[in-house]
Amino acid sequence: MTYTSLQSEGAFPYQLRVAHLYGDLMNTYGDNGNILMLKYVGEKLGAGMTFDIVSLGDTFNADDYDLVFFGGGQDYEQFIVSQDLPEKALELKKFIENDGAMLAICGGFQLLGKYYIEANGRKIDGIAAMAHYTLNQENNRFIGDIEIHNDEFDETYYGFENHQGRTFLADNQKPLGRVVTGQGNNNEDGTEGMTYKHVFASYFHGPLLSRNVGLAYRIVSTAFHQKYPDSAIPAFETILAQEAKGQKITDRKRKVER
Ligand code: GLN
Repeated sequence: MTYTSLQSEGAFPYQLRVAHLYGDLMNTYGDNGNILMLKYVGEKLGAGMTFDIVSLGDTFNADDYDLVFFGGGQDYEQFIVSQDLPEKALELKKFIENDGAMLAICGGFQLLGKYYIEANGRKIDGIAAMAHYTLNQENNRFIGDIEIHNDEFDETYYGFENHQGRTFLADNQKPLGRVVTGQGNNNEDGTEGMTYKHVFASYFHGPLLSRNVGLAYRIVSTAFHQKYPDSAIPAFETILAQEAKGQKITDRKRKVER
């Protein structure tokens, strides 16, 4: 999926604007699938969704967006992005510190931290919006299915990881979950991903939000409440129940049509 701007069709009582950082460069293993999921959930909450790719040379203004998505990338693309990111660093930090909702995957997660050491040993600077840092490893990658549990939300998340970087969190950052199976941030401390204020980060790739719908709801509803603090939105369970009902109707229709 490549696009420059994507918008919900039809009339919605609310509007959410999403910046997709370097969406044309950072999209390994279908990370853009998360965009479709954010759009889907946003619309269920009554929000028309607009997605803009904010890439090399583009200006990022914190006040223009309600949510930011930053996907993963190979070392080659990550280096190119790291050269442009300083231009956007101040506004990104402002967005984060003002409680903006953000989702960062793998390479995006790494570049928001202090630094990332590539597979070949070159150290590239992140924007240090948060204090995590990422080391490399000798001739190895963490690849495979992964399951984590977030004790605070009491939610289990399932995904697929593929990274060589080993990330270590700072004291003011919490993991997105504790590793149940798989390798996680560094295969040492049992952490996976990160949360800080309203930033969510993970090594899980493309299907993160479609496999973990509760997390998708959590992220979009966080962005929604930031923008519309006095408006009520349907509970996650209500949306799921509506979906199940819709599915039954579609199945019945299909049977009749056959
Ligand atoms: N290049 C980074 C690493 O290998 C990030 C990879 C990714 O985004 N999948 O750790």
